[in-house]
Amino acid sequence: MSEQTGTLLRTLGHYVDGAPFEGSGAQVQPVYNPATGEISKYVALAEESDVNAAVAAAKEAFGRWGQISLARRTAILFSFRELLAANLDELAAIITSEHGKVLSDAKGELQRGLEVVEMACGIGQLLKGEFSDQVSTGIDVHSFRQPLGVVAGITPFNFPAMVPLWMAPIAIATGNTFVLKPSERDPSAANRIAELWTEAGLPKGVFNVVHGGKSAVDTLLTHPDVSAVSFVGSTPIAKYVHATATAHGKRVQALGGAKNHAVVLPDADIDYVAEHLAAAAFGSAGQRCMAISAAVAVGDAADRLVQAVAGKARTIVVGNGADPASEMGPVITPESQDRIISAISGAQANGADVVVDGRDLKVSGHEGGFFVGPTLIDKVALDDPAYTTELFGPVLVVIRVPDLEAAIDLVNSSPFGNGTAIFTASGEAARTFQRAVTVGMIGVNVPLPVPVANYSFGGWKDSLFGDKHIYGPEGVSFYTRAKVVTSRWPHQEKWQEQGSGASYDFPSSE
Ligand code: NAD
Repeated sequence: MSEQTGTLLRTLGHYVDGAPFEGSGAQVQPVYNPATGEISKYVALAEESDVNAAVAAAKEAFGRWGQISLARRTAILFSFRELLAANLDELAAIITSEHGKVLSDAKGELQRGLEVVEMACGIGQLLKGEFSDQVSTGIDVHSFRQPLGVVAGITPFNFPAMVPLWMAPIAIATGNTFVLKPSERDPSAANRIAELWTEAGLPKGVFNVVHGGKSAVDTLLTHPDVSAVSFVGSTPIAKYVHATATAHGKRVQALGGAKNHAVVLPDADIDYVAEHLAAAAFGSAGQRCMAISAAVAVGDAADRLVQAVAGKARTIVVGNGADPASEMGPVITPESQDRIISAISGAQANGADVVVDGRDLKVSGHEGGFFVGPTLIDKVALDDPAYTTELFGPVLVVIRVPDLEAAIDLVNSSPFGNGTAIFTASGEAARTFQRAVTVGMIGVNVPLPVPVANYSFGGWKDSLFGDKHIYGPEGVSFYTRAKVVTSRWPHQEKWQEQGSGASYDFPSSE
């Protein structure tokens, strides 16, 4: 029970050193079910001392975990993979109850997280070093990579399981210990994942969870015992995290927000495009960093496209994500709902055409839920906030351009560069597009081109601060640093007879 609130609702605490951890308990925040608008529980907000306890546990654990054999680590990863798969339905229900996305979508995010665990199960292959024989007479060189120490992950509300799973399995497989600070809006999946790590045999202190907001994050960003920070969230916070943590000597990858364009050429199959655009724009109520939020209609594709997407948008079943009939759930908070609705009204006042309007949607029996219906806005001005900002809601704006060149210019004029897609029957147009756009992840007739786990995920420009993309080979590189060993094993009699080769000149290879 939360004494502060005087209700019987449970307060979710932290998970530190292999067990639940209440911490100071001084501050809590409500967690909502966005489909009903009701508070389902409270979450503890960590104070500095709570974060320090988690980092201390992780530091202590690193002394042993960093030395454990690859065989042992791999065995634990395989067990964790099995447990995640076995508990997928329960985890999906937890996600839906706090995020609002439909159950099948929650399962989809878990499936993509599982992929990363599976990749990390092959860590023996991924951590193989290099060896060069006889680089100079009697001298060999080899390289290998070692873990960094305690690493932190700070994650957004929109993928409460998948994004932590983009980070932790690789950080842990490469020998680091981990402190996760998940979103305080949907915190429970992180604790369940922590329990599964423990059940899989992960030693205590290797994976820890602290809940909280800015103060918890700031403690991690400035903590002398944290070696690296992986962040995923909105662009202003990503920029702040990158600047603050690098100023405190940490390695940082900070993935930010997005405005993803789908370019539709007149030769594309418009019915196919409409199905995929509606799913990519309205799935998860548009709360995906790879959601398509701007359709760029080239030439005479525009009218046909608007008509076809509008047809799809009108048939989407919006409701409680826990109801299997629902195709789209609510947005995360009443503030998000208000922000999205006022952006739609603003675009309309600016002269745009609201073709499908989700502002007044009511879901029967869920009058308190944070719903916005699928919304399609045509002829949006390029300086309208509905186009220039990341709305993070079920809103697709349509912009009309004369040709592919203008479409590429538009995509490249965006400050964001996370994902983009082109729909076309022309290989030549697709190739021109993929080579010219200043975007990290590109789909060709694929609207949400989230790379599979053995590639890496990351955007360009304001969608990523730092050098390394997340998971995949770049994830392995991010969580490790290299050593190069140059070695010679002199035979005593030989060198005494032939000379040692020592020289006062800079060493050269012979
Ligand atoms: P957010 O930036 O508000 O929060 C992300 C994390 O930062 C949370 O853990 C939060 O507690 C913390 N945080 C919030 N305000 C802070 C502050 N002032 N100082 C320090 N920490 C703070 O993002 P969100 O609303 O949870 O998630 C949605 C955003 O995340 C969208 O912009 C979306 O595009 C982005 N996102 C990006 C990717 C990607 O891969 N590029 C993936 C998922 C989500």
